[in-house]
Amino acid sequence: MNKPLALQEVMIDTKFLAKRLESETSGEVMTDVASRGRYATDASIYQTMPVAVFVPKTAEDIVAAIQIAADLGVPVLPRGGGTSQCGQTTGPALVIDNTKYFRNILDINLEQGYVDVQPGIVLDHLNAALKKHQVWYPVDVSTAAQATIGGMAGNNSCGSRSIAYGNMVHNVFGVDAWLADGQEASFGLMKNATGKALELGQFVQSLAHQHQAEIEAKWPKVMRRVAGYNLDIFNNQSERPYTQDGQVNLAHLLVGSEGSLAYYKQLRLALSPLPKHKTLGVVNFTSFYEAMDSAQHIVKLKPSAVELVDRTMIDLSRSNPAFKSVIETALIDVAGKTPEAILLVEFSGEELAPLEKKVKDLVSLMADLGHPGCVVEMINAESQKNLWEVRKAGLNIMMSLKGDGKPVSFIEDCAVPLESLAGYTQDLTEVFSKYGSRGTWYAHASVGTLHVRPILDMRRGGAQKMRAIAEEAAALVKRYKGAFSGEHGDGICRGEWIQWQFGHKLTEALGEIKHAFDPNNLFNPGKIINPPKMDDESLFRFPQTYRVIPLKTSLDWSSWDVQNDPVTEKTTAPGTGGDPSGGFAKAVEMCNNNGHCRKFDAGTMCPSYRVTRDEKHLTRGRANTLRLALSNQLGKDAFLSEDVKEAFDLCVSCKGCKRECPTGVDMAKMKIEYLSHYKKSHGWTLRDRLIAHLPRYSHHIAAIPGLAFMLNLRNKVPGLAFLGEKLTQISAKRSLPTWRRDTAWRSMMGSTEEALFASAKPVVLWADTFNGCFETENIKAAVNVLEASGYTVHIPQKKQGHYCCGRTYLASGMVDEARASAQELLDAFTRYTEKNIPIIGLEPSCILTLRDEFLVMGLGDSAKTLAKGSQTFEEFLVSEANAGRFAPELKACEQQILLHGHCHQKSFDAVKPIISLLKMIPQAQPQLIESSCCGMAGSFGYESEHHQVSLQMAELQLLPAIRQAPDAIVLADGSSCRHQIKDGADREALHVARILEMHLK
Ligand SMILES: Cc1cc2nc3c(=O)[nH]c(=O)nc-3n(C[C@H](O)[C@H](O)[C@H](O)COP(=O)(O)OP(=O)(O)OC[C@H]3O[C@@H](n4cnc5c(N)ncnc54)[C@H](O)[C@@H]3O)c2cc1C
Ligand code: SF4
Ligand code: SF4
Repeated sequence: MNKPLALQEVMIDTKFLAKRLESETSGEVMTDVASRGRYATDASIYQTMPVAVFVPKTAEDIVAAIQIAADLGVPVLPRGGGTSQCGQTTGPALVIDNTKYFRNILDINLEQGYVDVQPGIVLDHLNAALKKHQVWYPVDVSTAAQATIGGMAGNNSCGSRSIAYGNMVHNVFGVDAWLADGQEASFGLMKNATGKALELGQFVQSLAHQHQAEIEAKWPKVMRRVAGYNLDIFNNQSERPYTQDGQVNLAHLLVGSEGSLAYYKQLRLALSPLPKHKTLGVVNFTSFYEAMDSAQHIVKLKPSAVELVDRTMIDLSRSNPAFKSVIETALIDVAGKTPEAILLVEFSGEELAPLEKKVKDLVSLMADLGHPGCVVEMINAESQKNLWEVRKAGLNIMMSLKGDGKPVSFIEDCAVPLESLAGYTQDLTEVFSKYGSRGTWYAHASVGTLHVRPILDMRRGGAQKMRAIAEEAAALVKRYKGAFSGEHGDGICRGEWIQWQFGHKLTEALGEIKHAFDPNNLFNPGKIINPPKMDDESLFRFPQTYRVIPLKTSLDWSSWDVQNDPVTEKTTAPGTGGDPSGGFAKAVEMCNNNGHCRKFDAGTMCPSYRVTRDEKHLTRGRANTLRLALSNQLGKDAFLSEDVKEAFDLCVSCKGCKRECPTGVDMAKMKIEYLSHYKKSHGWTLRDRLIAHLPRYSHHIAAIPGLAFMLNLRNKVPGLAFLGEKLTQISAKRSLPTWRRDTAWRSMMGSTEEALFASAKPVVLWADTFNGCFETENIKAAVNVLEASGYTVHIPQKKQGHYCCGRTYLASGMVDEARASAQELLDAFTRYTEKNIPIIGLEPSCILTLRDEFLVMGLGDSAKTLAKGSQTFEEFLVSEANAGRFAPELKACEQQILLHGHCHQKSFDAVKPIISLLKMIPQAQPQLIESSCCGMAGSFGYESEHHQVSLQMAELQLLPAIRQAPDAIVLADGSSCRHQIKDGADREALHVARILEMHLK
């Protein structure tokens, strides 16, 4: 029998392990504490330091790693996206990350309806490749953008449409896997099995026969049972058979084994036709109980999904700017009252007409059940897609709760028969209130698996409540004949419940399966077999002993320094959370490891991960590194160490995560905070100073005759750029912005302040450092456009200089200098905001600093007023146009306009106004480039060590899209974006102000 995890006394010589891996494989080996720390957690409450991390490049690397680990007695833990919720992806093992290199599609066979893939491929990437063939892999987990097929098979995952397609296990034809001795075995239909797979299959078959009566008595009959190993494949107990023709498939033994039986090499997956049409009926309920009670009737209409969103989730979505308008398309507020629950009922198929009829049938059914007029009929595909996004974001919306109490997953996927759903949810709600908590319910009503997470503070007695609630929930599951583990797997939080569910004899039988496959307990020990206790504090990410180092922060993080009420979810006043780092640590701890930042498709987050695929260069990796350093888990004084500095190295401060991370992890702001400490302790380089002080010295360069000319020689005289790089580490491969004497301030544009105050249409155009010094024509264009529509434009300036937001100081971690600069600007601009005169800016990163960082620099209430009064040029003009004050006469535009949004514009949802503005030009058809950050990101792309990675970021989407449209006008509002486009595609990109000016009649 295998030893329990705690008793496994492995004396591991990590150095020797690393040495062998490095010499015998081509993979990447990591043994430093920070790298291991980044792999110590998944999306659960648990944390365990791995022995080492290995990123294999080839199949041979994995075989060698398994053999080396076996020789040295080091456990092996295969890993995908690390998005598991139960701790199955944490362990004191050699963690092997398949996601960087082991992620290919090997074969698509449409005739036989399968695809062969490597385990590290992400579901969305697979489905994107399958789309052109009109097929898909339909196990649509919410984490489809980051979950890998290996991880999905490991957990026997299931999605919203499992009522139509089943779980992972129902959609796997075969698995080729490495066994614990490094041998490869092919698992598929039992009748075709040979060699070791046949031997193992026969052994498990004999166990199944031996325990047949026990299996029939103890095995849950609901489809959503994922606990243990699938010992019932020889005598199916589920309401849904494993295979359509009843044949036994040995691959199904490995599905749901959580990396504890064998290491998947490749998987053969069953393809399904991509449904051509979908319709949606959103049923609104005035009581939660009625919603639950209706599910059993609704499924008789044969929907492809029935998903619940409860009142709390509705309210949270309504209060989230990104989701408000979408959720409201689904709601029927009866007498001004928000519904208590909605069910999203989807129908899908080949023809639209029958699906539309199904929605009508739903309307009739609900009327028959006593709920007339409660269905929103949603036939439009785009509206459906938007609503599904909100539903999929459900958990993440919930997890954005600030404070130490968090919704904890441990009974979040119990499955009960549909007719018992209403009773079960009601009873469990009572259990929560007994323990001073409350549950938010959502997800798969169609199959009786509702997600619910009571709010617990694991640092303060959460473990005791967790056990008490789990015990009462288990009793309910037993009463209602359900399954305790119905979707997310067993891992650590449900491992101990396997014996409770199946009884002693079957648990022993599962142990025998493990022993037959993995006699030395090599693969992911302590998962499924001999699991630890769910409330073993030594395995928690936040045990009661968790402490944070005291830190005097440079920015104000007090809004994160709060606690919450587990029932009302109300948070305490800022600054009362007891965080010795003033809220900085709590902001960092908001990362719950859900892995949403590992995405590649839409949005901005996270460009450095998109080009490197390294956990270290991912928002999550950075948050974990910071959290571990702030809580002294990376060693003494780790906060200011190179480990943390390196994790920030490729963060381009794009603010993608600020908007797109579901829990609001704002790494760009964290980088400012971090750099302010690191640089104070390690010193600023010459390059830091050159960049930071640019707004100050730029005026002298313009004022001293000949100086601009001399400095510009750097771009022209061979060798000077090279010398400059040696001196400053500014890349010789980059051209630098051209200095000029006719800066915006020396050009005397616009009107006087007196004229401004006297005007009926006054506007302050704030000339920032970049447009003002290097691209005066943008300022001129903005002035011309505004003046042509009757505005009085004033450009503020001071003696020998201009007002600066301090952006360059922030980027260098000089927060005191940034604050001084910001204060000066604030003092100067208050006289405009007091008179409600709008402040507009052209450079997105500068003007948006007034709405972002200014609010956390301790500048007082006047900063809030300034933030409200500051807009981008295009935001201002669109709001003016909407108010009927801006209607310029413009010439038609014959050319295509390609638009690249600056990532700070995207972060503040400020790209749409550019499109609206362009649409005012007759015939203009602006087209948005779906791109992440351009990669230049202020000074980042100019830095010699970052030049290459900067261009890689641009090459992801931006530069190829521009090259594909050689005749298009390219629009980019960001100065650095325009430089990147010039350097990478040799095209002049224009600010929107110039495009408008070009079209003035
Ligand atoms: C916000 C959120 C929403 C979620 N929604 C859903 C949902 O809708 N449905 C659902 O089912 N789950 C859901 N999950 C859980 C999780 O995302 C899924 O279980 C997912 O399939 C895990 O994939 P992964 O690549 O992250 O796997 P990982 O977490 O990396 O691994 C999962 C298991 O698979 C094993 N494994 C990985 N690769 C291999 C291999 N090559 N060989 C053998 N074993 C391997 C690992 O050892 C581990 O035990 C959600 C999680 C979060 C955070
Ligand atoms: S940084 Fe945000 S998106 Fe990334 S894992 Fe953490 S919480 Fe999720
Ligand atoms: S600011 Fe941008 S680069 Fe940095 S972590 Fe966030 S998304 Fe990634």
